[in-house]
Amino acid sequence: MEGCSIKNIIYHDSIILGAGASGLMVAHKYRTRDIALIESNASIAQKLKISGGGKCNITNISVSLSNFYGDSAFVKNSLEKFSRDDLLGFLKEHGVKPVIRKNRYYFCKNSSDEIVNIFRKTKNVYLNQKVMEVEKKENFILKTQTKTYACKNLIIASGGLSYPRIGASDIAFKIAETFGHSIMTPKPALVGFTVQKEQFWFKELSGLSAEVAIKVAGKTFQEAMLFTHKGISGPVVLNASLYWDKGEMEVDFVPSLSATRLQKVRKREIPLPKRFLNAFLERYPLEMLKEYRFAPAGNFGYSKAEVTRGGVCTDEVDAKTMMSLKEKNLFFVGECLDVTGELGGYNFQWAFSSAQNLILGR
Ligand SMILES: Cc1cc2nc3c(=O)[nH]c(=O)nc-3n(C[C@H](O)[C@H](O)[C@H](O)COP(=O)(O)OP(=O)(O)OC[C@H]3O[C@@H](n4cnc5c(N)ncnc54)[C@H](O)[C@@H]3O)c2cc1C
Repeated sequence: MEGCSIKNIIYHDSIILGAGASGLMVAHKYRTRDIALIESNASIAQKLKISGGGKCNITNISVSLSNFYGDSAFVKNSLEKFSRDDLLGFLKEHGVKPVIRKNRYYFCKNSSDEIVNIFRKTKNVYLNQKVMEVEKKENFILKTQTKTYACKNLIIASGGLSYPRIGASDIAFKIAETFGHSIMTPKPALVGFTVQKEQFWFKELSGLSAEVAIKVAGKTFQEAMLFTHKGISGPVVLNASLYWDKGEMEVDFVPSLSATRLQKVRKREIPLPKRFLNAFLERYPLEMLKEYRFAPAGNFGYSKAEVTRGGVCTDEVDAKTMMSLKEKNLFFVGECLDVTGELGGYNFQWAFSSAQNLILGR
């Protein structure tokens, strides 16, 4: 359904930029109002669809403020407004019953379509429309290559810079800056690390994996590390990448053994792939397995990063309504804000919680 069209301008009271997780949830919340979505892709929810290996890790059995990089006081408002249980309740209402994997992650039973389907009936979705610029006259005016749209309320739900091949763009940051917002430096996160010369031997172990613990910026993560031809990846590395800026991290390659026990066990009892253990012991003493420090060279970049850390500064957004404190009737939700979740369903929880926390005026 087209909105009211005056002089070739398509008008809706509220327009959401981006038909991803957060934008679709805002449209659902305000479905009885005159609200529309503008999306550059040919279909809605493309990231949701491919997420979690096509089964979408929607949330986690434990959701706390410590799982989010960002201002806790700001995040708290959205998580209290629409908690993990509220999200599960919403899914249940729509006939979706996620299953718990590895005792903590909620995934769709068969396919992420179970969630995407909830949003398929969303009205007023303008697809294949890439927003190039936004200005404010009496209303907000949005221009795509072919059309002009106008609205009283503008909701920015266009995400971060990760995965440009499925629509990611920097439009949220450009619009925010146009209206005087500060942007916290964006950076690829939940991404693998490239390594420096001293760790090039990691690359020779491509394909191996081991359960390790990584300490970075006061946080410790314990899960699988995967050696790849480019460096290191796997859940533990992805989580570490959210908190790593520069400098060294510490890896415990045998978290299941104490330092004393490690000195006593026979080599074949050390729970690590043989090829890794041999390569390690050729270079370092045994005790260093418990405390291996190294500085990554960088990361695999936005083409591989699941999320973008940084974004629209939350000090300049009302935590209770998601409205800009700089420009009336301009709102920000989801990943474009300077809030990033750890691996494990926290980013969809944030996208949906922040969307439900948005309050449009009458
Ligand atoms: C491969 C992969 C797997 C992931 N798996 C998980 C997971 O299992 N669990 C989890 O919690 N998180 C996961 N994430 C992260 C999660 O997908 C995002 O954090 C979440 O989708 C952010 O929601 P959003 O609504 O803010 O942005 P998006 O979902 O990114 O939606 C933004 C929308 O805006 C559109 N857009 C952008 N620029 C423009 C423009 N100029 N004009 C018009 N439209 C535009 C985009 O095409 C997109 O559809 C994964 C991410 C990736 C890349």
